[in-house]
Amino acid sequence: MAGFDQLGARAIAAGVAAGDFSASEVARAALDAIEAREPKIQAFLQVSAGLALKAAAATDARRAAGEELGLLAGVPVAFKDNMHLLGTRTTCASLMLEHYESPFTATCVRRMLDAGATPMGKTNMDEFAFGSSTESSAFHRTYNPWDITCVPGGSSGGSAAAVAAGEVTLALGSDTGGSIRQPASFCGVVGMKPTYGVVSRYGVVAFGSSLDQVGPFGRSVADVALAMDALVAAGRDPFDSTSQEVPAGFLAHLEASVEGMRVGIMPDLMGHEALTPEVRAALDDARVALGDQGVEVVEVDLPHMASSIAAYYAIGPSEAFSNLARFDGVRFGYQQPGCTTLAEQTALSRAYGFGAEAKRRQMLGAYLLAAGVYDKYYYPAQQVRTLITSDYRRAFARCDAIMLPAAPTTAWCFGEVSDPMQMYASDLFTISCNIAGNGGVCVPVGLGADTGMPIGVQLQGPAFQDHKLLRMARALERGLEESGRIKPGSVAPAFAGKGGELA
Ligand code: GLN
Repeated sequence: MAGFDQLGARAIAAGVAAGDFSASEVARAALDAIEAREPKIQAFLQVSAGLALKAAAATDARRAAGEELGLLAGVPVAFKDNMHLLGTRTTCASLMLEHYESPFTATCVRRMLDAGATPMGKTNMDEFAFGSSTESSAFHRTYNPWDITCVPGGSSGGSAAAVAAGEVTLALGSDTGGSIRQPASFCGVVGMKPTYGVVSRYGVVAFGSSLDQVGPFGRSVADVALAMDALVAAGRDPFDSTSQEVPAGFLAHLEASVEGMRVGIMPDLMGHEALTPEVRAALDDARVALGDQGVEVVEVDLPHMASSIAAYYAIGPSEAFSNLARFDGVRFGYQQPGCTTLAEQTALSRAYGFGAEAKRRQMLGAYLLAAGVYDKYYYPAQQVRTLITSDYRRAFARCDAIMLPAAPTTAWCFGEVSDPMQMYASDLFTISCNIAGNGGVCVPVGLGADTGMPIGVQLQGPAFQDHKLLRMARALERGLEESGRIKPGSVAPAFAGKGGELA
């Protein structure tokens, strides 16, 4: 039989329900694939083999007892290591939390498990989700499955790489300024940041609480839609006050016609100097593919988008500074031994526990919130936030979604981007979506003619129109598939079929 990595989430759940293979067989195949591929990819911080086999056995027992199986029965899923899963550590890829045992299971993880998913482990990330390359992990690098000399993107780089390498079928990530959409683009998979409030963050370690949102990665839009159905099925989460009731049915409406829907493009942005020629070509391909599917292209403008990075680097670090104050070596986190005063213990615990980028962000946040400075940066950033949100409102009066690059370039190689400012600038196209709280999804468009690396295109939709947004994403995927540019569901070629056969 073929490898489990050639099956999408729906096919696995259907196969388990039909008895074509068991959830335990799929779990073992996924563990085989992880064992064979991890030496090169290093997407995981922990592989939870015991939990996986136990969950899969429970799914098989339910089937044997004639009980109904969930949407994700037997589907191997990985979770970013800022999400609590009882029985695993939650390290946020930081020495600060190296030994921290999850005290409970996050709602987003719980819902995937309640739908029958098999938990394969916790994935690598930039420390506390600060970064765009996963290089700031305190533990190790993760390698891009399309070219292991390149970064997988970040901060959810481990989740994107695990899906792209076919180690798991689905993964969850978190996105504060692009951390799902950018690694999806770099690794050639689909990644969605739903509207702020759609997915509960209860049990996910906070970065920027007004920006953070959890979302899925998959190798097709349909797999991402299925994961979204599982994430929202049980309604709003009373443990996250921002959580909203959202109807399921993402998958059910996916193939509905997009005839008459409109996609907005921003001519100035498409010609932005930061874009490489192959990213520009990918945007052209995406526009043509959507046009072929009956989507009308209109021109829109987001005049304040250029200010989004400045606003984000005032709001994000300020919130991060406040959120990460709890890691003081007393209530949470590494505790430096042998100190004689509390001040010394706090200082040394934080000095040891946090890496350079986490320190940089928190020092920036501390400065921005200081008396006298607050009025100069934080407050204007909130005003820019209002302007960006109203830009979107005007633009979405004219279209159902806006098409943007996910990133200005394909994945860079290790060591190529070492200046933090240069890395921050690469988030230009993803950040405004978090600032306004909209939904955004990245769809692979093909491989760049110059680099041979994957390129994704981003669609952003109005808040709480995530169903429509995914429908447009599926139309884009369908258009590209029909013209032979992509093959949804594929694993990065160097890893496809390496271990993971089903019986
Ligand atoms: N790359 C952005 C940053 O460094 C976004 C990170 C994220 O979304 N978690 O902050």
